[in-house]
Amino acid sequence: MTVRAGREFLAIPGPTTMPDEVLQAMHRPALDIYSEQMLELTDSLLADLSKLFATKGKSYIYIANGHGAWEATLSNVLSRGDKLLVLESGRFAIGWGQAAAAMGVEVEVLKGDWRRAIRPAEVEARLKQDKDHTIKAIVAVQVDTASGAYNDVEAIGKAIKSTGHPALFMVDTVASLGCMPFEMDRWGIDVAMSGSQKGLMTPPGLGFVAANDRAREVHKKANLRTPYWDWTEREGAEHYRKYAGTAPVHLLFALRKAIDMLHVEGLENAFLRHRLLAEAVRRAVAAWSEGQVLGFNIAEANERSNTVTTVTMNGFDPAALQRYCKDKCGVVLGTGIGDLSGQAFRIAHMGHVNAPMILGTLGVIEVGLNALNIPHGKGGTEAAIEYLGENVRA
Ligand SMILES: *Cc1c(COP(=O)(O)O)cnc(C)c1O
Repeated sequence: MTVRAGREFLAIPGPTTMPDEVLQAMHRPALDIYSEQMLELTDSLLADLSKLFATKGKSYIYIANGHGAWEATLSNVLSRGDKLLVLESGRFAIGWGQAAAAMGVEVEVLKGDWRRAIRPAEVEARLKQDKDHTIKAIVAVQVDTASGAYNDVEAIGKAIKSTGHPALFMVDTVASLGCMPFEMDRWGIDVAMSGSQKGLMTPPGLGFVAANDRAREVHKKANLRTPYWDWTEREGAEHYRKYAGTAPVHLLFALRKAIDMLHVEGLENAFLRHRLLAEAVRRAVAAWSEGQVLGFNIAEANERSNTVTTVTMNGFDPAALQRYCKDKCGVVLGTGIGDLSGQAFRIAHMGHVNAPMILGTLGVIEVGLNALNIPHGKGGTEAAIEYLGENVRA
């Protein structure tokens, strides 16, 4: 017996739900890649990506996922033997650092914790010790999709600037761009990267990088550069060089539509929508937590991200709950990864999400908790409903 039918709902942190309009935008023939329309499409997207990153710097589009965009950032500004400082807050900056290590970069991890965000004061202290400026770049994620941590990259940027240390500051916004405020230039960020398939509601397969003048100056001397990722190659006059070959035409149609939809909604409204829906999720998790089994992975409330919530499970198998939600009710929850493997599940609330999707997801989790006799505080979904009723006014 099941109560699933029709579309399965992906409550995983990427790929996320794509709007029908985005899917439909791809249902058309390819463009002549030498046509005026193609040039206009590329120019409009590069300009809009720079606006999303909030930078006067240059943006680049790669046919790649987030891992590819990581490699793009590293290869363009680093040289073999350079030192990279990785700010830990879960899984993802560590992965970025592992890519750097494999490329011949010396990697130092500033130890963090899976249960909290990066502490700007610790970054400041580490940089003050580096009197010879051996650290060439610093990487951090705005949202760690594994732990659910939200890092205040503005405060980290300030801490870096306060030391006068010249290292480039590079930020991963794969799980936050288009969902939460991000201000590359104002926050002192030199390089930012993102991907298409999370907040940006587009199929997986596009990676985005933005670089400011400082980064493009360092780029000139970087020796890890390779032809596909190379910014200078991509700044060549011929249009095909923007993609180092054939443009990913249909993914670009999809991205164009997705960004148009964000513009229609208004970026500020999209941020607010994410904040409201995230808080609704947190109200539910807080109520469930009273049963002493479920809990927030991130201890401090103000360090929890507005795009994904990682819920720990003490003494019960999250896989059983995930299986129930998927097989019986058609809702796919995110799995615990890295250090949280087998100990947590994740609820994504990023991109094309609305109240029925989120309330439906919470309701299904609660059905699963009941069906599997997992102890939990009652009224989680009710708490989410009450919160939205109080905060989304008529
Ligand atoms: C998903 C994700 C990545 C990796 O992106 P892929 O497209 O899976 O390669 C990197 N960083 C963050 C913060 C992510 O959420």
